[in-house]
Amino acid sequence: MREPLKTQGDLKELLGTYYLGMAAKEKPIAWCTSVGPAELLRAFGYEVYFPENHGAMIGAKRPGAKNIPAASREGYSAEVCSYMTADIGAFLEGETPLQAYGFEGVPKPDLLVYNTSQCREVKEWFGFFARRFEAPLLGIHTPQNLDEITPELLAYLTKEWERLIEELERLSGRPLDRERFEEIASHSYAACKLWQEFLESNGRRPAPHTFFDHVILMAPVVVLRGTPQAVDFYRRLIDEVEAMPAPDVDERVRVYWDGMPIWGKNRHLSEFFQERAVSVVASTYGHSWTFDFEGGDPLPAMVRAYAEIFISRSESFKLEYLKEITRRFGADAVLFHDAKTCPHNTNTRFSLPGRLRKETGLPTLTFYGDLVDLRHFSEEEFALRMEALLEQLEGA
Ligand code: SF4
Repeated sequence: MREPLKTQGDLKELLGTYYLGMAAKEKPIAWCTSVGPAELLRAFGYEVYFPENHGAMIGAKRPGAKNIPAASREGYSAEVCSYMTADIGAFLEGETPLQAYGFEGVPKPDLLVYNTSQCREVKEWFGFFARRFEAPLLGIHTPQNLDEITPELLAYLTKEWERLIEELERLSGRPLDRERFEEIASHSYAACKLWQEFLESNGRRPAPHTFFDHVILMAPVVVLRGTPQAVDFYRRLIDEVEAMPAPDVDERVRVYWDGMPIWGKNRHLSEFFQERAVSVVASTYGHSWTFDFEGGDPLPAMVRAYAEIFISRSESFKLEYLKEITRRFGADAVLFHDAKTCPHNTNTRFSLPGRLRKETGLPTLTFYGDLVDLRHFSEEEFALRMEALLEQLEGA
């Protein structure tokens, strides 16, 4: 039986301090997308709030589909991003899981900043709240489906970032403090490196932790990226993993998870896999927050790191990435989550599982679900298909 890592117990206080700091309203608040320019916003003195994290909290704590109809009545299709529709719906219904931190509603933004490297939905989502709160909306427009990160692309994106900096300077009435930016970027880089080191410790057999731990433990590298608190947290986490004995578990099968988590089913799935001696050892999702900002001037490094994330890349790039990471973690099979409302983080629709199977010999399983809207996931169907995969693996 794998016990949760003790350091996980520190998360409640860490995130509580983060949210209570925002509730104190001592600093202006900027809303930011999860792979948006959080470091830049912190350098301009903003507290940074991440609506995607709020969407995940709604998905994890409440029946996923509860708030979505309110967003549909406002004109947002129930077939688009359920982080967005659950978040907008909860706002319209005056609900938030942040009530636990003393908030009556989501923190009011002074500014909203997105990066379309992950999808265009974030622009529409932030646009709704920019209109509601009458706050400025700024963004970086990153192309998608990228084979290579070319010098021409980087030149274009550098202009996008420089334009954003100018707009932030105009709004704040002061120039970017380059030293502060460098300091924040170095914290961000340190946290990302430590997070990656932690994930890589799952090269061991049996794996000391699983994907279902990762989706909890990743919170600081998302919402506290750029702070020394995130760096401290991951140092402690790694110290714990290095010192711990191998977990007393039977690990018959190791699988890789591609696509979004199903937030409202994490506990169920964790137990399901544990009962069958299956370790979900790594995921594309967990590895998405391993940005590399190394170097002197953080701006070029950041422009590149935020452009080259997995989600913005072509199918050919993704195939090579999946071949390498599944080999590195010794995966016996790959699970592809086809998330109904997130086509951007779903990699099943253009033959990728079949090509991966052909090139690696690894069995793959595509299953249907969603990040928040549980109407699209069937526990029974998932169990049947997983059992069939396990039989296939055992018969191999
Ligand atoms: S990547 Fe998917 S889950 Fe994330 S904001 Fe975009 S549509 Fe929503």
